Amino acid sequence: MTRAIVFTFIMTITVMHAATAGEIRDYSVIFSKTNQDAANLHVACTFLLDFQDADSVAMNFGGGHEFSVDNLNIDDDTFEYEYNRKAKRIVFRRTAERAVRVTMEYDYTNLSAFFIYGEGDAELWETSFGEYFYPYVPNTYMDVAIRTETPDSLSVLCSYPLKTDGYTKCNGILQNILAQSITLAFIRNEAYRRTSAHLPDEISIYQIKGMECSEERYEELLELTKASIAFFSNVYGENYISEEGGVTNYPTFLFHNGKGFSNRYNIGFISASQEKFSTYPDIYPLVHEIGHRWLGEWTLLVDDGQPGAYFIKESLNEFMTLMFIRHYYGSQTYDRLLDMYRSEYSKIKGMPQDRAIVDVTVNNNNIVIYRKGPLVLDSIARKIGYDELMEIISGFYRGHAGKYPLKYADFINHVNESSAGIGDKLDSMLKNESL
Ligand SMILES: [Zn+2]
Repeated sequence: MTRAIVFTFIMTITVMHAATAGEIRDYSVIFSKTNQDAANLHVACTFLLDFQDADSVAMNFGGGHEFSVDNLNIDDDTFEYEYNRKAKRIVFRRTAERAVRVTMEYDYTNLSAFFIYGEGDAELWETSFGEYFYPYVPNTYMDVAIRTETPDSLSVLCSYPLKTDGYTKCNGILQNILAQSITLAFIRNEAYRRTSAHLPDEISIYQIKGMECSEERYEELLELTKASIAFFSNVYGENYISEEGGVTNYPTFLFHNGKGFSNRYNIGFISASQEKFSTYPDIYPLVHEIGHRWLGEWTLLVDDGQPGAYFIKESLNEFMTLMFIRHYYGSQTYDRLLDMYRSEYSKIKGMPQDRAIVDVTVNNNNIVIYRKGPLVLDSIARKIGYDELMEIISGFYRGHAGKYPLKYADFINHVNESSAGIGDKLDSMLKNESL
């Protein structure tokens, strides 16, 4: 009894010191491209900030470049704030009232993504590369009303469904979305041609005029999209479309002319290189993007910098992409791809770039994450069976999707629980420098 009282007392003190995070409610934001140069956005947002027990609340805000946020205007009569450009953070401090309304307006210059995606035909605005173009508390969920405004020359795609007024304005009321998951693409209408198909759900495809793929490639995209969605839905026991997850339609494909940059899955749309789509021998990487509907940065909330972060967010999904290929094209195609992965890996084997997979904690080592990672998983699958390993990965998804924080150890423990000793075996392979 006494011990219990003392314990409760200690707990109370701990709770008082570790103040809760505060809550953001009634968030609405306007993203405007009207009268904005390329790579610029005017943003106006407002939200109710309830400090709850906290003295201060920090939000991600701003980009790497010192000019990312300009003309910042915040009405701070009822609170104090401090914007740290270097840390890309804005901290709100409580003065008197527990809940205050924050209203902000600013210009945002997104330099890095503009150069990455290139040539101005499509601008992608996303938080994933450290461009926090609207304020948010990472890894929390929020309701938000979005409005976009574009000149006649542009169209917009969003990670979540927006309704258009038919011209230049779009609106959406999004519920319980992951705070960092708003992504926007502004498309230059003149440069793009949109087509659509029914699988039977409708998908849209935006291609750059004059760079469009062959009819055969187009059919291949439709077929692979349809077949991989069916495969993954079955494996994960969850349909592609999920009202509660904000996924209300099959993916829209946006092909861009950015150079040397990865494909992206951004919930409502997938962006990828037009040139690669039109000319490469296969389009399996697009299946990988479809796979991110289930496994990836929007569902498996492992922080960058954590051990195994990119094994969890990328290697698992690349392995599942291979599982689709094995299922759809057969084991010959699968083995041929694995041989290719092995030969790509062998070129860096034993070199400084050949790091332990768990040590890749930011996405900066493609061979280790997208080649060596799947090779390790394949060797586990050969021991316990492919179906068994797929079931383990699927169970991990179902148990941990959307939960924060997620750790590499959660995966290893899950594997051990499903198949005794196999988690430890996998763990030691992932920690080894060389295969
Ligand atoms: Zn990926």
